Amino acid sequence: MSDVLGQRGVSKDEGLTEEEVERRRERFGPNELHEVEQRRWLEVLISQFTGVIVLLLAVAAVAAFVMGDVIEGTAVLAVLVINGAIGFVTEMRAIRSMESLQEMTEIETRVRRAGDDQEIPAEDLVPGDIVILDAGDIVPADLRVIDPSRLQVDESALTGESVPVGKTSDPLDEDVPLAERENMLYKGTYLTRGTAEAVVVATGPDTELGQISASLQETGEKKTPLQEKLDDLGQKLVPLLLVVAAIVLVSGWLRGQDLFLMVETAIALAVATVPEGLPIVATLVLARGMWRMADRNALISNLASVETLGSTTVICTDKTGTLTENKMTVAAYELANGSVEVTGTGLDTDGTFQHGGQERDEPQDPAMQEALKVGVLCNNASVTEEDGEVNVTGDPMEVALLIAGMKGGLDRDDLLESLPETWEVSFDPAVKMMATYHDSDGRYTVAVKGAPEEVIDSSSRVVTGEDSRELSATEKDEWIEQSERMAEDGLRVLGLARKNVDRTAGSPYEDLSLIGLVGLIDPPREEVRPTIQRCQDAGMRVVMVTGDHAGTAKNIARSVGLVDSDDTEVIEGRELDDVENLTQAERDRFVNASVFARVNPANKLDLIDVHQAAGSIVAMTGDGVNDAPALKRADIGVAMGQRGTQVAREASDMILQDDNFESIYHAVREGRIIFSNIRKFVLYLMSCNVSELLVILIAALLGFPLPLLPLQILFLNVVTDIFPAFALGACGGSSDIMDRPPRDPEEPIMTRTNWTELGLFGVLISAAVIGAFAIGGGMYPGGMDTDEAVTISFLTLAFAQLWHVFNVRDVTSGLVRNEVTENLYVWGALGLSSVILVGAVYLPGISLALSTTPIGFEGWLLVFGMSLLPLVLGQIEREFRRRFGTSDS
Ligand code: ATP
Repeated sequence: MSDVLGQRGVSKDEGLTEEEVERRRERFGPNELHEVEQRRWLEVLISQFTGVIVLLLAVAAVAAFVMGDVIEGTAVLAVLVINGAIGFVTEMRAIRSMESLQEMTEIETRVRRAGDDQEIPAEDLVPGDIVILDAGDIVPADLRVIDPSRLQVDESALTGESVPVGKTSDPLDEDVPLAERENMLYKGTYLTRGTAEAVVVATGPDTELGQISASLQETGEKKTPLQEKLDDLGQKLVPLLLVVAAIVLVSGWLRGQDLFLMVETAIALAVATVPEGLPIVATLVLARGMWRMADRNALISNLASVETLGSTTVICTDKTGTLTENKMTVAAYELANGSVEVTGTGLDTDGTFQHGGQERDEPQDPAMQEALKVGVLCNNASVTEEDGEVNVTGDPMEVALLIAGMKGGLDRDDLLESLPETWEVSFDPAVKMMATYHDSDGRYTVAVKGAPEEVIDSSSRVVTGEDSRELSATEKDEWIEQSERMAEDGLRVLGLARKNVDRTAGSPYEDLSLIGLVGLIDPPREEVRPTIQRCQDAGMRVVMVTGDHAGTAKNIARSVGLVDSDDTEVIEGRELDDVENLTQAERDRFVNASVFARVNPANKLDLIDVHQAAGSIVAMTGDGVNDAPALKRADIGVAMGQRGTQVAREASDMILQDDNFESIYHAVREGRIIFSNIRKFVLYLMSCNVSELLVILIAALLGFPLPLLPLQILFLNVVTDIFPAFALGACGGSSDIMDRPPRDPEEPIMTRTNWTELGLFGVLISAAVIGAFAIGGGMYPGGMDTDEAVTISFLTLAFAQLWHVFNVRDVTSGLVRNEVTENLYVWGALGLSSVILVGAVYLPGISLALSTTPIGFEGWLLVFGMSLLPLVLGQIEREFRRRFGTSDS
């Protein structure tokens, strides 16, 4: 072993020094498969100037210069630069935001450096680092095992073989094939059980996984379905654009108007109608929502899930730790010679044992002693007391058993001195038991604990005190009934048993002597009850899926308000075993059930299938190694941040940092808000664009001169529209967002109603603009051709678009107080854009480029009067729809 470490210049107890780590990092680089291709800012900048829009603008600018119109040409160039700058800043913000979010979900590794154990990001590992791993951890680099303990590893990611393999630290021959290298741990595989200390031998691209994946280089970033839909939406208005452009060109030509002006107008309209920025703004909205979820302790590791979240219809949640506190206390023992209650809660190591209400200072009874002993021996937790402070690590249920032992004067370390542990058969949720072997004068004492029905079933004798006797079938049934009574009182019940054997070979779960049952209290979390109610109000079903006993499950389900009647059916996991052959009636029964008990990890997969087949969008919680497949299969896999293993976290779409059910509710709410905001700004931007097209179209059809000049159209799109659009992305969600049923995931961003509205808003705004233009034309001596009339139509359009933000509120929101009016960003955006617009008229340089001119008090009156019209009519439409219409927003 010293050879292995010596070659790598490291000692097991000290690890590498910080200076050495620095040197090796320079030499070997970061521990990443292939350097995540960070889009450099230059690349992002360049990409802003390669789209169709930029090409069109460049053509317009060049044409203006060729025609000798320097001001026009310069102005178009300015628009081009502003457009690029805004695109650049937005995209960089989105990228940075996403990157820091991703960092939050990255998995950390325990490493020993300069004599200290610390958690570091896995990418910081260097060859020679000493890594400490636990069951459920993902192997962060290629490692040589130096100190394994009951180590087993799932190497399927590398070898395809899903049966876990044992590992040792013994040296091997040089030419052993990969799958048989028993002293190596490979990056990307994971520990299914045991623990290990190991030294890093290869990192990043030098690992076995790195070498495989080098040939499978990932192909850039994958777009989420939402981003793809937005890309498509951007193209939807192109046919309308082509029609309008053709009509403008032909009618202008027929009437002998300046052809260059017509071409420029067509180009400006094209810039307006193809909203290239939609996906990027959407990404910003998504990132913002993800940050808000992170504030609420829900980390999203997969961008596409944000969209799915809002459509969640079923939440399958485990019980322990999510619905309950996971703070356990032993409350009672049931032994062959009677019941014993235990006092003292939580981590308090003072407590008494009472028998029939009579206090007993010490549990003198031998059967009681045995029960405490098995609980303390068959255990992986630790409890230490220092200066009156109790420190615990491990499974809270096992901690509770240790504390009960301490109440009875049993200390685990002392006990292990006389009965050293030689072997552990780890807890397996499929078997529902665990066992430890202890050396006892050349023989072995086997301590077993597990689900009562399994332990009782595995027992052939029962401990009566100093002695034991045969356990009859009737007695077994009585024990089972007793465990059910305890479970129905809401206790988590375990069976305790022991045996003495000569050899460690053979099953630990045969011919056991049953000692008795232990009941633990795990109080329900207080905040869960109202949250479940809120989930149900939001049209989501909450389903408890637990490995625990049906009785316990039912009791807890009742106390958290998941079910309200005593005769609620609890379905046992084994009923799902034969999922392929279910009848429709059985399927319906499962889909409608709220409590599933004694569910093993494979049953979870089946349950997801049954729900998905019924058209549900399923969120499923999980924490263990075995939960990974179910977390992947669910539409939203939810892993626990504190209790969860690394494997579960890696397989999930969302990590709850506080393991709290309430966080799922908030994440769903945020998911719904995000979608509703995206819909808002898409509807907003597209209706603004349509109004511009219609203004030009109507004017051309009526034989009017152009009410908007090309540069004015560009100015609206590049400068004033976007602030309100961004602001809409930050709305807080209408007050009833969680009172509606979940959105159908197939529902498009723009529903049929939305398209109708888009047309309606477009017509309203363009009619107001044309009206203002005509009235304005009458107000000034030169008619509609004057700069004043054009300024009036330009400003009317600009302000009508600004007020239009209030029209995209949810149909169900209030008229005055709603998510748009309560969004301060919206007011800020309106203020900013208004100032810019006033500047566009009164600042000499800009007004020259935009051909605007002061319009006097009456002119402004006209602008405000007409621009407010679409708002008033739009609000009437919203109210009308609220009362009589459809409810899709
Ligand atoms: P939940 O799914 O709500 O977290 P759970 O912890 O009871 O519930 P599992 O971990 O699948 O679910 O456990 C199933 C049963 O196995 C438990 O009810 C308990 O009886 C038994 N059990 C759980 N952990 C252990 C353990 N460490 N040792 C022995 N038996 C255990």
